[in-house]
Amino acid sequence: MSIAGEPSFRESVDMMFKRATQLMDLGPGLEEKIRVCNSTYTVRFGVRLRGKIETFVGYRSVHSEHMEPVKGGIRYSLGVNQDEVEALAALMTYKCALVETPFGGSKGGLCIDPRKWDEHELEQITRRFAYELIKRDLINPAQNVPAPDMGTGEREMAWIADQYARMNTTDINAKACVTGKPPHAGGIQGRVEATGRGVQYALREFFRHGEDAAKAGLSGDLDGKRVIVQGLGNVGYHAAKFLAEEDGAKVIAIIERDGALVNDSGLDVEDVRQWMNRHGGLLAEYPKGQHIIDGAKALELPCDILIPAAMEGVINLSNAERIQAPLIIEAANGPITFGADEILRRKGCVIIPDMYANAGGVTVSYFEWVKNLSHIRFGRMQRRAEEARSRLLVEELERLSSDQHLGWQLGPDFKQKFLQGSDELALVRSGLDDTMRTAYQSMREVWHARQEVQDLRVAAYIVSIGRIAKTYQSKGL
Ligand code: NAD
Repeated sequence: MSIAGEPSFRESVDMMFKRATQLMDLGPGLEEKIRVCNSTYTVRFGVRLRGKIETFVGYRSVHSEHMEPVKGGIRYSLGVNQDEVEALAALMTYKCALVETPFGGSKGGLCIDPRKWDEHELEQITRRFAYELIKRDLINPAQNVPAPDMGTGEREMAWIADQYARMNTTDINAKACVTGKPPHAGGIQGRVEATGRGVQYALREFFRHGEDAAKAGLSGDLDGKRVIVQGLGNVGYHAAKFLAEEDGAKVIAIIERDGALVNDSGLDVEDVRQWMNRHGGLLAEYPKGQHIIDGAKALELPCDILIPAAMEGVINLSNAERIQAPLIIEAANGPITFGADEILRRKGCVIIPDMYANAGGVTVSYFEWVKNLSHIRFGRMQRRAEEARSRLLVEELERLSSDQHLGWQLGPDFKQKFLQGSDELALVRSGLDDTMRTAYQSMREVWHARQEVQDLRVAAYIVSIGRIAKTYQSKGL
């Protein structure tokens, strides 16, 4: 989306990048090498549908190959264009470096309204698009590994994986050519909700640092915090659901394509999502909230935390002044334009930037890729061994208690939890939580240590660009 009087998405990302590099001492030419997009492939292909040949336009952009494979989702939307795909690919490079997943950055997109086509047609279109990318190694377990993004999900990833396997029948690592697959087709537990879960872990980590929360004028933890979420798709739904159900946050507004739902006493996220599933994705008639047709207006309502989780450019020069949230977490990529970012910072709003906030998806994608390459489910070797060791300890404690007449009694709940070895889902959550905490701490260190670094976004860029620069330098570039 290009907004009048504002830079394009790609330009906006570059301008944010430059705010950070101004504060860094990169060697001559290195700034440009890191910033530019290496290549963008455009494909136009035809599929015979409903009695005629339909032509589609798709892109796969590779921003940086300082590490391979390169990684990044495939988006299905009518708004897809080269500028958007390149901006998203650049963000992938910075994101992967920030959360230490060993990938370069890439992104793909198909200019299509997926709601216009039925499942069988979408499968034909997806397989044909995948074919075009696979034959050019723009999908390949060692070189370029896509994942879901807006408008795509497990189903599309399973089609892509199957298409790759058909075209590469002897590639033993074929399943690692794409992540975000359903668990029964080589996926990993916890990937579907990973980005939303990552948003939750990011917020928990933020509130663990009272000093940081105080910069937004907030205190305590997530309990009772008033939240507004835009986009109840994969990312927004999971983030809002977990925050409400597990952390006691109150979701007071949900913004979707057909307007916003507002309820000051809190909306039941699961109930709203079920309603949308039954009513063609529409909120309008939902009975337990007030419906506002101009949904974007709800971004401006007072709240503690605003979660834009739909698309880029929604907070821009036209509404930034009226945004009241003291804390914004960018679950979507690029929801705040460069100009709006400046206005919000001036107003004292704290922004948890996209490259960190939505990195849960690529983090768990990394786990899935490793699982596919190792051909074994996480936890399969050690789970029962862990349980056996814990059981030994519990039995020894019980024996001591009885022999020495100590009268100790281990609570049944404790015993059950302690005895349980970690399954794949538990390990994925632990790895994700660790990643989100560690990455936050690396940003906050720069944020607090350097006076000229006044916000988390610049801190995130500094950490990330510094790591990419080191990789280039060690390659002798
Ligand atoms: P999705 O297609 O599952 O959901 C997007 C939701 O936003 C849909 O419910 C849609 O109806 C709604 N929406 C679209 N336009 C809107 C508008 N103008 N106003 C309000 N709502 C609108 O997509 P997603 O996968 O949840 O991705 C959302 C954002 O998160 C994108 O920016 C994407 O790049 C980013 N992201 C996604 C992942 C992932 O794992 N899926 C990972 C990282 C970042």
